[in-house]
Amino acid sequence: MVYTQIILSQNIGKFKTNLHELLHFGFGRGGGEAGRDMKQIFDTHAHYDNRAFREDRHALLEQLPERGVGLVLCPGCDVKSSQESVKLADRYDYIYAAVGIHPHDAAGVPSGYLAALEALTFHPKVRALGEMGLDYHYDHSPRDVQRRVFREQMRLAEKLHMPVIVHDREAHADCLEIVKEFSAVKGVYHCYSGSAEEAKVLVKLGYHLSFTGAVTFKNARRALEAIAVVPMERLMIETDAPLHGAGATSGQAL
Ligand SMILES: [Zn+2]
Ligand SMILES: [Zn+2]
Repeated sequence: MVYTQIILSQNIGKFKTNLHELLHFGFGRGGGEAGRDMKQIFDTHAHYDNRAFREDRHALLEQLPERGVGLVLCPGCDVKSSQESVKLADRYDYIYAAVGIHPHDAAGVPSGYLAALEALTFHPKVRALGEMGLDYHYDHSPRDVQRRVFREQMRLAEKLHMPVIVHDREAHADCLEIVKEFSAVKGVYHCYSGSAEEAKVLVKLGYHLSFTGAVTFKNARRALEAIAVVPMERLMIETDAPLHGAGATSGQAL
């Protein structure tokens, strides 16, 4: 229990550095946020466009700063949700957006999606492309289509010099192979579920690794082993809302 608390508090502590780093050197295209309160948490991955929030979305979002969340990055899952993320970023100064196609949605992607995503990146609060990647757990899209759409978005990131948010579920080898093809592209593996060995490889490639509240669950040993090999300046935290709770609130804490 103590170990988990230390990991989490270190994680959150380091996160303040990442907030600065990402906004100015990674997710940033000009900065200007240096005066923000660094004591607050930057939730680097939360889907506040999701329909799960349809009842209370704006009531909830308005409360975030007073509840200690100073910044949020809201990634897109398809063209429509990317547009919705940008709208939220437009409305709230503490929300930033990423635009991309989730592997679940790769099969249904419209033919002009890359141009649509690129157009959205001209909005000043779009700071990354994503989420994108491979999900062989659910296989909602055929795997060859997932790989094609992932590669196409990586190529766009290379062209636009933008960081990426990678979703990798039970597809570690293929995901790594594609990431290695685009050595100029950097970003974050969100909700990291790979091994400590792969974490070391990703760090060498220049990636950040992000962890959810799932690190507080009883069976989180693998995640803690991965966290232990990642330099603090490469660790990030996220809620992946509405998907993940923390052990402390779900009753599953160590
Ligand atoms: Zn994801
Ligand atoms: Zn997500």
